[in-house]
Amino acid sequence: MKWKNISFFLQLTMLLACVNAEGQSVENDTLFYQLLRQAMIENQIIDRGVSDERVIKAMNDVPRHLFVKESLRDLAYADGPLPIGYNQTISQPYIVAYMTEILQPDTHHIVLEVGTGSGYQAAILSKLVNHVYSIEIIPELGKEAANRLDKLGYDNVTVKIGDGYNGWEEHSPFDRIIVTAAPEQIPKKLVDQLKSGGLMVLPVGKTSFGQDMRVVKKDKTGQVTTQETIPVRFVPMIHEHNE
Ligand code: SAM
Repeated sequence: MKWKNISFFLQLTMLLACVNAEGQSVENDTLFYQLLRQAMIENQIIDRGVSDERVIKAMNDVPRHLFVKESLRDLAYADGPLPIGYNQTISQPYIVAYMTEILQPDTHHIVLEVGTGSGYQAAILSKLVNHVYSIEIIPELGKEAANRLDKLGYDNVTVKIGDGYNGWEEHSPFDRIIVTAAPEQIPKKLVDQLKSGGLMVLPVGKTSFGQDMRVVKKDKTGQVTTQETIPVRFVPMIHEHNE
């Protein structure tokens, strides 16, 4: 561990002890969580190569601890995924930042997310694009995320319950599509619903032991190319007939 990190960690531990001793409420975005978030951004995101300032700002602006169960809030900024119920997870902070960066979001973009989960990735994107349409297949998770996003004021996110394998025809074509559960193959309907000049980021693979992150690009003439980036491990996409 670098000296910079050790020193930062010691300062953080002392500050956290003070904040805890004052018994601040954990309901809101207190200094305690702001410090944990800063450490997450330094050590897990910037140190691993994410450099887009807009993405880093969004990761700093969204209170990740409010997207997990109350009992897990102190772990919200740790370097890994966390359970959100129904055998599903909120993704590791680095993976959220990485996927957001390679998605190249812009302020005018209309984005489709498949796999709302906790709503955290949607909240990050909402800071960077015009509108996020997000689909969740587990009704309880979808309703919970929609309520949370609404309560926290992310008013450019629309959540629906359904099978995201089929996309969301009504609002297509999308400038960007992000998929946060792994299908065995790239779903054709999602490619069809991508705008010309658009880009989709998704994990693809046959097993829950690991997949590859893929970037699918559709050029101005409609030609589609796919590129593999890093190995990842996502929950499998739920779909009855994997075409
Ligand atoms: N993006 C989420 C977040 O920020 O918390 C994390 C997503 S979690 C790794 C994957 C989510 O995809 C789960 O909530 C799961 O129920 C959902 N999912 C799986 N298959 C799906 C499908 N076919 N359509 C929509 N959502 C699906």
